[in-house]
Order: sequence, then C-alpha cells, then structure tokens
Amino acid sequence: MRLESFAGWRRMAEERGMPLWRVVLEYEMHQKGRTEGEIWARLAQVYAVMRDAVETGLREPRQTQSGLVRDTGKKLLGATLHVLSPEFTLLLAYATAAKETNACMGRVVAAPTAGASGILPGIYTFLSKHHQVSDQTLYEAMLIGAGVALIIEQKASIAGAVGGCQAETGTAAAMGAAGIVYALGGDISQIFESVALTIMNMLGLICDPVAGLVELPCVKRNGSAVVIAAAAAQMALSGDTAVIPVDEMVVAMGEVGAAMDTRFKETALGGTAATPTAQAIARRIWPDAELVRREDPPE
Ligand code: SF4
Repeated sequence: MRLESFAGWRRMAEERGMPLWRVVLEYEMHQKGRTEGEIWARLAQVYAVMRDAVETGLREPRQTQSGLVRDTGKKLLGATLHVLSPEFTLLLAYATAAKETNACMGRVVAAPTAGASGILPGIYTFLSKHHQVSDQTLYEAMLIGAGVALIIEQKASIAGAVGGCQAETGTAAAMGAAGIVYALGGDISQIFESVALTIMNMLGLICDPVAGLVELPCVKRNGSAVVIAAAAAQMALSGDTAVIPVDEMVVAMGEVGAAMDTRFKETALGGTAATPTAQAIARRIWPDAELVRREDPPE
C-alpha cells in the first residue's frame, strides 16, 4: 500500500468506499504494524500534548533566553481591539502560544516539524472551542493531515533546511487547512483544493531564523500560517478552487525549494536573519561565531 499522490489517495478512498482518513489509518496499520486501537490511542495522546502546549503558552510567561520570544500569544489573548473578529485574534493566540511553548523548551508535537509546531494545535484548539468539533473528528482530521504531509514529504519537502519555510509552515498550514475543511463538512475535492490553495499562497517562503534560533520569525509565521490555512479553507468551502491540481502544486513547491539559495534554508545567512539588526542580535548571542554582516544596525 502506497500513498504517493493526492490523485492516488482519492482513488483508493473511492475504490474502497472509505473516507480519506481511513485510507491513512490503514496505511499506518500496514506500514507500522500497529492496531487500529493503538493508533486512536496515539492520536488522543498527541492531541492532548497539542492542547497542553496552547494552554501552557497562554497561561505562563513566555520569554526565551535570547529575548526574541516575548508573550506573543498572551498579548493576543489580551487584545481588546480586533482587526477582524475576537475569534480571529484567538486563532492567532492559540497558534503562537503553542509555538512559544516550543521556543521555551516546552513539550510540543513536531507536526510536521518543531518550527511549525504551533499551527495544528492552534487550528485544532480553535475548531474544538469555537466550532464544537468533537475529539474523534479532530483525530480523523489529524489522520488527513498526516496523509497531506506524507505526500508533500515524498514529492517536495517538509524541512526548512531543504525547502525553506514553505516546506515547514507551508506544509503545516496545508495539513491544517485540510483539517478545517474536513471538520466543517467539506468533501474530498474541497479538502484537496484547500491544500492546493494553501501551497499556492505560501510558495517561496524562505527559512531565515534570526541567530539560527527557531524563534524569530518562526513564532510570527506560525500565526500567519494559520491565517493562510483559514483563508484557503474558507475559499474551498465556499466552492472556490485553486485551478491548478494539488499534485501539480506539490511539484511546484518541490521545484521552488530545490531552486532556493542555501542562504534561505535555515542557515541564518539571508532574509530576516541577515538584516543589520538580526546580525547585531546574533553577535550578542554568539559572540564568537562568524556571521554575514551587511551593515551596522541603526542606532
Ligand atoms: S523560518 Fe525556518 S526555522 Fe523558522 S519556522 Fe520557518 S522553516 Fe522553521
């Protein structure tokens, strides 16, 4: 049993008359030799860790030793002015809080990576709290997310060091968008459209962590990624399409990642990491390291 493309995944689901999540469940049973009961138990465990990462991030002061992470989730939680709606602000709060838990060495689920570990907890918490989606439906959404990541990993990449931030936060956002559409009643086509739309809208995003720490822009990007995931899910659920089939978008993502300069692949030598201010921060944190230097930061 192989899960290598979205077209193949759909075919398997339709031929066997089963939902997308069950195809992934059977794939897991086949590949890992686990029982169905063990997989559901594992999903419940994973979900509990995700929810805890959100709650911890919102409850406890979050500041890293570097000072680059400072209570983004808590600030959002306390916001009284809302650009779109209080729910929108909370979605951002949940995702950034979970990612801050990771930056502060707390326990998270690397889904698909530690750098993107706030996105799915943010989305699942939001679905649970604001749409009353059941835990069982969220476990099924998690299986669909796993299928999305599995295909992207084979055809492109899920690692910032290989494909840039599009590969990390982009993949997590695509997994999350698929979960939103599934949990809110979308069909297979709508689920896959949301993945294509997410990839389309995150294509080319570079990986440029300041001082090589997975903190900045990572926390902020976990926030922006849930917004893109929600936008893609909304478009798909409204009947809009990406026009380009999802399998083609995954290939495009791989092509962009392969062509990306190494400065933009977790080396901290380009983009945000190479700005004068970021360089000054890096010199403060790593006084002995050799760093790219463009110019001195503004006074
Ligand atoms: S900037 Fe790099 S390290 Fe940070 S989340 Fe994106 S891919 Fe991960």
